[in-house]
Amino acid sequence: MWGYKCYMCDTDTNDYLCENCKQIKRIAELYGIDTVRKCCDEIFVRDAEPINKRTEVVSKKIITRSQKDKEETKPKNK
Ligand SMILES: [Zn+2]
Repeated sequence: MWGYKCYMCDTDTNDYLCENCKQIKRIAELYGIDTVRKCCDEIFVRDAEPINKRTEVVSKKIITRSQKDKEETKPKNK
């Protein structure tokens, strides 16, 4: 046991990278890091937008008293 932590994901490992991250690195070597990063953007980051919209809808349904006070003092932008 070397007691390393994976450089990428902080998992305890015997190497600089854990097995999962080594696999990701191999994919990156195969396809190019730009391609892998763009894929991650498309799969994960782009999904953040609908998630945020859903969160916004849910948070608007539950209006706390402090939120209501803020909305009353804030000029409404249409
Ligand atoms: Zn890792």
